[in-house]
Amino acid sequence: MNQSQADGTTDTALAVNHCAQCSRTLTADDTVAAGDRLFCRSCYGSLRAELEATVASMSADVNYPQATVGAVLGGVLGALAWWGFTVLTHIAFGLFAVAIGYLVGHGAVRFAGGKRSGGLQALSIGVALLSYLFAIYLVNMTFINKALGEQGEAFRVGFPPQSLGLLIRVVTVDAGVMDLVFLAIVVYEAWKIPRPIRLPPEAAA
Ligand SMILES: [Zn+2]
Repeated sequence: MNQSQADGTTDTALAVNHCAQCSRTLTADDTVAAGDRLFCRSCYGSLRAELEATVASMSADVNYPQATVGAVLGGVLGALAWWGFTVLTHIAFGLFAVAIGYLVGHGAVRFAGGKRSGGLQALSIGVALLSYLFAIYLVNMTFINKALGEQGEAFRVGFPPQSLGLLIRVVTVDAGVMDLVFLAIVVYEAWKIPRPIRLPPEAAA
């Protein structure tokens, strides 16, 4: 890489460079360095256009209904894994938040046929947040019901929650700074995975 940069800019009279695409001899004003190769202007132009079209097509015609299915599947899977782990081990291992964001993001991208777009990012973030709340609700519900049982109470927190007020109370019980950290991780993963590919700026001739 470093060496190539040097090559691209050394146009000593002795060095003869050839276009990596069409092999024609390159003159000083008809040379574009891209990555570790040199191209003539016209080859660089057409390769660049091809690349831009490929990248653009990755964000076009996204099947959002299918992406939603993938994101929700990923979110449910991640939330259930978190719940199962926490109930079995009694360790509230919040790093499962990474799994939720990861599975939602990859679910959306996979089910959309490998597409990436801003819309998929927004979709993933929304689904990941709901999945995170879902996971917290399940975990807290389990421990609250266990405590209620031990106290001989008949009431049980249900799924789905009996009321919005109960949902909020169950989700926010024991909420702390670490929950915000995990929330940030969830959002970051969901944002990062479906992010459209950005091409480096066009090489200067
Ligand atoms: Zn060429």
